[in-house]
Amino acid sequence: MPQLAASPQSPVVTIVDHPLVRHKLSLMRARDTSTSKFRQLMREVSLLLGYEATRDLALEETLIETPLEPIRAPRLAGKKLCLVSILRAGNGILDGMLDLVPAARVGHIGIYREPASLQAVEYYLKLPDDLSERDVILLDPMLATGNSAVAAISRLVELRARSIKFVCLVAAPEGIEKLHRIFPGVAIVAASVDRCLNDHGYILPGLGDAGDRLFGTK
Ligand code: URA
Repeated sequence: MPQLAASPQSPVVTIVDHPLVRHKLSLMRARDTSTSKFRQLMREVSLLLGYEATRDLALEETLIETPLEPIRAPRLAGKKLCLVSILRAGNGILDGMLDLVPAARVGHIGIYREPASLQAVEYYLKLPDDLSERDVILLDPMLATGNSAVAAISRLVELRARSIKFVCLVAAPEGIEKLHRIFPGVAIVAASVDRCLNDHGYILPGLGDAGDRLFGTK
């Protein structure tokens, strides 16, 4: 699990380069992969990314009885995780993450990219009220310009989320730079950092429009 950067000034970008993740991501990139296969793969990759994104969850010792003897055994301390999906493509990651942490609360932030300016416009917001007591994992398959991520994180900061981590499948260097320039404390977990953005704000080589490929639109 290589980390591109890890110092107090420069927060962590974790690239999950497990062979299963790399293989599944390659299948997702292929243009002839069907919608149903793409959706299934995103769920599987998300579960593997979630495994890394939850690596630092706090544990507490509890007393349990095995069939043979009592022991002190670790369990997750509290149920204070909130998964926040940036609509609509974030929902593709949400399913895999919920397979892993079914007890997590779920929030949604609807954001679209204004096509000409690529600026983020929020159109929907539904989050738990106790965000200040929760660690948030923010989900969007593509970190492209960074505008949507920054808009969503701004909202979460305003609502005093206890901590924020960003999970995506594919990140562009431009998006990472922007996110960390504005929110240096937000760690990123990704399956790949791709080459660059094109003139329309799409990631190259990327995998196309994640929402369209997930839901079979366009
Ligand atoms: N959103 C997508 O779905 N794909 C990209 O390449 C960039 C933003």
